[in-house]
Amino acid sequence: MKEEKQVFRSVRLLLLGFGTTALIVFGLCIAHRRVLPDNVGRVLSAEEVREISARNSPLIDYVYLSPNADFPRGDVIRKITVHHMAGDLALEDLGFNFAQEDRRASANYAIDSQGQVALYVEESNRAWTSSSRDNDNQSVTIEVANDEIGGDWHVSDKAYEVLLDLCTDICRRNGIESLDFTGDKSGNLTLHNMFNSQTECPGPYLQSRMEEIATEVNRRLAN
Ligand SMILES: [Zn+2]
Repeated sequence: MKEEKQVFRSVRLLLLGFGTTALIVFGLCIAHRRVLPDNVGRVLSAEEVREISARNSPLIDYVYLSPNADFPRGDVIRKITVHHMAGDLALEDLGFNFAQEDRRASANYAIDSQGQVALYVEESNRAWTSSSRDNDNQSVTIEVANDEIGGDWHVSDKAYEVLLDLCTDICRRNGIESLDFTGDKSGNLTLHNMFNSQTECPGPYLQSRMEEIATEVNRRLAN
């Protein structure tokens, strides 16, 4: 009888031990889970789109928020990083790609070949675009569609014009006084290939126009 009691007590202690360990592991899992905002990866109501647009660029035509981001960004906005899509995607298709969590990629904005603007990651959050956490924490990232696949990766004149408008708007709203393209990551107009030597992004065409982009945006900001 006494032995039975002892066995019972041991089993109880063992179960208690297991239970406690399970609770601790469960608690740690919860603590480390990324909590995503409820407006990512789904179709938004017209009212939600209006609210989101109001705290980002007035140039936005399309919104589909990506879960692939840090909420909120870890630094203040002081840079812009230009990317190319390496394709001529519709904004909806790029939004669908960025909505897939296993792709682990996103951008704040994209511009299609018709000059329409999409928002995928709100400016207050860090998009996963440039292979650099430090850059993306400080940067608003923009993907521009190509109307030439390969070669110089040309972009349409309309997309280029809207890129100038969007860069000017981002600078104005975020208190960036001027854009400085230095050709390396010390400036505040940066490129993907400054952080990842494996990528051609944003391609020779956009890259050749970076100084011109900085000059034109600065001319507009001064007026
Ligand atoms: Zn890129």
